[in-house]
Amino acid sequence: MQYVREPMNPYAGDLSISDFEQLLDRKGGPAVVVHGGAGTAVTDDPAPYLAGTRRACEAGLQVLLAGGSALDAAQAAAMLLEDDPTFNAGTGACLTSAGDCELDASCMEGTRLNAGGVAVVKTVKNPIALARRVCDDTPHVLMAGPGADAFARECGIALHDNALLITPRQLARWRELDVIAQREGADKARGRMGTIGAVAVDSRGRLAACTSTGGTPYKRPGRVGDTSIIGAGTYADDSEAGASSTGLGEAILKVTMARAACLRVRDGLSPREAAVAAVALLRDRAQGDGGIIVAGPDGRLGWAHNTPRMARAMIRVGMSTAKAAV
Ligand code: ASP
Repeated sequence: MQYVREPMNPYAGDLSISDFEQLLDRKGGPAVVVHGGAGTAVTDDPAPYLAGTRRACEAGLQVLLAGGSALDAAQAAAMLLEDDPTFNAGTGACLTSAGDCELDASCMEGTRLNAGGVAVVKTVKNPIALARRVCDDTPHVLMAGPGADAFARECGIALHDNALLITPRQLARWRELDVIAQREGADKARGRMGTIGAVAVDSRGRLAACTSTGGTPYKRPGRVGDTSIIGAGTYADDSEAGASSTGLGEAILKVTMARAACLRVRDGLSPREAAVAAVALLRDRAQGDGGIIVAGPDGRLGWAHNTPRMARAMIRVGMSTAKAAV
């Protein structure tokens, strides 16, 4: 049998790492940074990850340049990523052990700290749009389960059949995990993860962040990770930073990774340094793997991950196209 070696350097991107670092460290909004999850495998074709994250960034920047808010921009970017079947969020979400999709999402803006999240949603095409409605139209921050789905109908968000969220790729993965679960038990059936996130900063330093996921493959029905939790999956405060996390939710929750990164920016680190520090915190304190994107109020951006790959892209005013890496 032929032994196929994995590439030594899994990095694929539009720029060298040092060129990216210079671009991320540059000040000046408006700017948008997105991620497509920290679970991408080195054997996956990078092309759809690069194209999807670039497109989302560019859409977000367009919203800001047209006068939209940072939250509008982050939401527009997040919705494109939810609709892209490449990513584990919205259409293309992974399946629970019961064989259906349960979606989590949250959003936050950093001027008044308005925030909204939804968890275990099953009948909505774009959970980030529902999280936005929780943020804008209710006195609540987090809604879950059938109550959240019912709230979607109340808002006029069309009922979306759960089966329409399921892609052939995720169904095939579920079948493989189901065989493992039958043989070795459900907790042994672990697959590659993924999430999407977007952080936007406008020209006046106003920040917003959005995160959305199908969660972890073959998760127990009802399991909620970090993505819908403000402070863990998503955080934004104009006096600190904005951040969106990806990776093992159970670990991210324990270190409230998004807020941890934002506090480090407030305390003087650059967004890039803060992202690296937050991922180190995740590993050192909670033995977790994952990644994060960060934007500061001055328009500097950052990203870091301790997994082999994390799909990500950035754009700032003056750039004609977004620059992506995976
Ligand atoms: N953080 C997500 C969760 O645990 C998964 C991921 O980001 O890959 O639900």
